Amino acid sequence: MSILPRSPRVLALANQKGGVGKTTTAINLGTALAAIGERVLVIDLDPQGNASTGLGIDRRNRDLSTYDVLSGDCSLEEAIQETAVPRLAVAPSTMDLLGLELEIASRQDRAFRLRNAVAALARAAERSKRADYTYVLVDCPPSLNLLTINALSAAHSILVPLQCEFFALEGLSQLLSTVEQVKASLNSELSIHGIVLTMFDSRNNLSNQVVEDVRETMGDAVYETVIPRNVRVSEAPSYGKPALLYDLKCSGSQAYLRLASEIIQRERNLRTVAA
Ligand code: ADP
Ligand code: MG
Repeated sequence: MSILPRSPRVLALANQKGGVGKTTTAINLGTALAAIGERVLVIDLDPQGNASTGLGIDRRNRDLSTYDVLSGDCSLEEAIQETAVPRLAVAPSTMDLLGLELEIASRQDRAFRLRNAVAALARAAERSKRADYTYVLVDCPPSLNLLTINALSAAHSILVPLQCEFFALEGLSQLLSTVEQVKASLNSELSIHGIVLTMFDSRNNLSNQVVEDVRETMGDAVYETVIPRNVRVSEAPSYGKPALLYDLKCSGSQAYLRLASEIIQRERNLRTVAA
């Protein structure tokens, strides 16, 4: 197993629970990182394709998708489309992904399809002396299936969105034990980048309690930035736009900008420690 190249940094947005903010974070963190100068690729690995839709890629316009990439029919480079956000591209998904697991189940490289595709993309950029992406964000489906395993084998680290609700921590231990298994068998470099609390409602005592509990249990793994529940964030996808393009000033957009800075800072710290 080859060592993952340093650049791009590959972050998997994963949590087997649905509706916790993975896709919203992929779209808006991706946009925020691009807005502060990073070159970002969002890879949509959810058959629902909501990250692709939220980034303005119409369903009729997904001739090549992550299904084609993972089934070996095209390169990642061929599936990538530009978005309305400068420096932000997306590899869209379609419902075809639902059938992929069965199709590749007996292949030896089934867990490494995405990793190989990302490595080929980096090599192609190097050959043609093009500036490569600096961040790749992988939007995972709400399940610990082979798609998520592909994301975890391709990633340097995992970013876990947790919704500020009563059962926030439920399921986290299962996710963390999957991370340990992937580390032990598929990707020794995998680390936990951080946990981002989403849909925080300051008027709600429960939200405040959840933030306290999660910080107490998970410590420094939890980002300082908490993403507020914000109606502008939930409206934006219906316009095919990230919240940052729809309403840059809203509290959700501003929080995603802070999260992006925090992530870049964590990356710098990692680099300093490694150096
Ligand atoms: P997941 O990808 O984990 O299933 P989503 O990102 O699709 O979760 O979010 C689930 C729902 O919650 C969506 O309808 C989304 O618009 C909404 N949502 C996510 N984050 C926020 C937020 N910060 N404020 C308001 N609504 C949000
Ligand atoms: Mg999603």
